[in-house]
Amino acid sequence: MEKLVLVFLGPPGVGKGTQAAKLAAALKLPHISTGDLFRDHLKRDTELGRKAKEFMDGGLLVPDKLVVDLVADRIAKDDCKPGYILDGFPRTVNQSEELDRVLTQRMEGVSAVLYFDAPREVLIERIAGRARKEGRADDTPETVAKRLEEYDAQTGPLVPHYRDQGLLHQFDAQDKIDAIFAQVQEVVAELGE
Ligand code: AMP
Repeated sequence: MEKLVLVFLGPPGVGKGTQAAKLAAALKLPHISTGDLFRDHLKRDTELGRKAKEFMDGGLLVPDKLVVDLVADRIAKDDCKPGYILDGFPRTVNQSEELDRVLTQRMEGVSAVLYFDAPREVLIERIAGRARKEGRADDTPETVAKRLEEYDAQTGPLVPHYRDQGLLHQFDAQDKIDAIFAQVQEVVAELGE
């Protein structure tokens, strides 16, 4: 099968990280979550972590350049040779264009974009639940509102962008986790045919 480069797209709280982790385990591919990479840098108090912190704390997107460099370094690692899953990247049209540029240099391309969506009240409810369980610093009500606003303004335009390219597969994230995952696996199996 051709190298799989999968993009997981959707608003905060939609559950795309859960689906990406399940698929990564099933396919034995690296799960590259830019949010997790930034949180790791924050924890280790690196220069990148310090630069990203003010944006993350405010519910804002980290500047494209920082994110693109981070991802380019990560996908250059050996474990990405068979393919990889990008979760939470790209998040702006500019990031998607930068990704295409990096991928072209590597003679790769996006295989498919898996897009998860759910009504706003479901997202807010889920994030509130996650905040109680995980205590994520950016899950406070004010930051969540800002993150959803950022999503609508900056990330939303990626939906028509990838749909026009014929890459978009949409999933109703209100279904049960396992039911969604079955649909995800079906789509991915078809990609290999
Ligand atoms: P997430 O865990 O995906 O919700 O990401 C948490 C935070 O990390 C976001 O609110 C942004 O501040 C930052 N972040 C993660 N991925 C990106 C990205 N692709 N572009 C810009 N900022 C990002």
